[in-house]
Amino acid sequence: MDYNAKLARNVKPLMEYRNDAWKCVRCGLCRMVDAQTIVDQEYVDNCPAGILNKFELFYPAGRQELIRCLTAEPPEIDIDDLSDETLNAIFTCTGCGNCQLICNEMKGLEPTNAFQALKAWAIERYGLKKEHHNLIQSILNYDNPWMAPRSTRSRWTRKLDFNIKDASKEKVDILYFPGCNASYVPEINLTALATAKVLHSAGIDFGMLGQKERCCGSTAFRIGAVEMFEAYKEENIKQLNSLGIKTMVTACAGCHSTFSHNYAGRLDFEVVHVVEYLERMIADGQIEFKNDLNLKVTYHDPCHIGRYSSIYDAPRKVLEALPGVQFKEMKRIRENSLCCGSGGGVKTAYGDMALTMAGQRLDEARDFADADVVVSCCPFCEINLGEAAKARDDGMKVLDLLELVDDAMR
Ligand code: SF4
Ligand code: SF4
Repeated sequence: MDYNAKLARNVKPLMEYRNDAWKCVRCGLCRMVDAQTIVDQEYVDNCPAGILNKFELFYPAGRQELIRCLTAEPPEIDIDDLSDETLNAIFTCTGCGNCQLICNEMKGLEPTNAFQALKAWAIERYGLKKEHHNLIQSILNYDNPWMAPRSTRSRWTRKLDFNIKDASKEKVDILYFPGCNASYVPEINLTALATAKVLHSAGIDFGMLGQKERCCGSTAFRIGAVEMFEAYKEENIKQLNSLGIKTMVTACAGCHSTFSHNYAGRLDFEVVHVVEYLERMIADGQIEFKNDLNLKVTYHDPCHIGRYSSIYDAPRKVLEALPGVQFKEMKRIRENSLCCGSGGGVKTAYGDMALTMAGQRLDEARDFADADVVVSCCPFCEINLGEAAKARDDGMKVLDLLELVDDAMR
């Protein structure tokens, strides 16, 4: 099943999803994993918003009914007086893409895009959710969602024993784009350090933008602040295209998805997730592993390189190449992967819900993969799953794949 190109490239105004809302037969198949692949009845549900709220409005079919009512002429409910619970239903969609994967193949509908349009519509009428205010203001003021000054963006590089070229001053073919999480969140700094070290050790000549790097805008787009995102991205396009790079490498699933899909056709270079780059480097013999890791590992597919971009094999091939790694899959994997629960602004506005979902994912990793370590390739997943892991007493760890690669190279 390959449907990724239709995801999130062009979110249209809500009214344009009106026909889809009518065509939806409320079959409910899109709340589950692909019905043809079901192997375990217990691990069938796959819509995080629905799983955790257990009320029809929070599942995709319920949202389609809401869109139908809102876009009817005249609307069938008072569009200026939606209840808090209805607004919660709108904003608890993580944008995981499961519903679109299932329905697009079957009926040609685009439910995930429609629900993104629904958020944008709700923001136009009701304003941003109060929990999302700081995040948006921070992107506008500081070019990151963490309320952190630009001057500290590349502070993590002080821990490196080599220099990285400044791509704004020096011509490079390859730009490493760490993104906001890897730049500012202490735990995720480890991913940035590992990525830079791996690229350097493999002899790759690369540069970074340092303090001049700006948020890709993913967070703004996913919470529904689509207009703000569209304006913000224009500045990024100007800046990035002026560098003359051939390839942008990122270790963030959100940045990868945003640059690949939401900037599609506007960038003069290829965008590569570092796992694809690593797969190439391992195949070309550019990477040598020296250290046996001795770990039992499973892999959590992030929605934004998984369902959105179909990058399923590269991380698994890299994991299998690491010495001393026993790799075992969970039940819901690849196209059927269970979202960690943090996307679409849910972590910021509904933190408990995001953590509960992450806890369920860790249970699956423990029960079916018998894993000590859950590995992923997305800072958003790693922050959320990592927080859930800390709250447990079974010693489970959450690491980025690049951390393992870096360890295995030393
Ligand atoms: S969106 Fe598609 S899969 Fe989901 S309930 Fe409607 S018709 Fe069924
Ligand atoms: S995108 Fe994911 S969270 Fe949102 S309605 Fe679809 S399946 Fe549920």
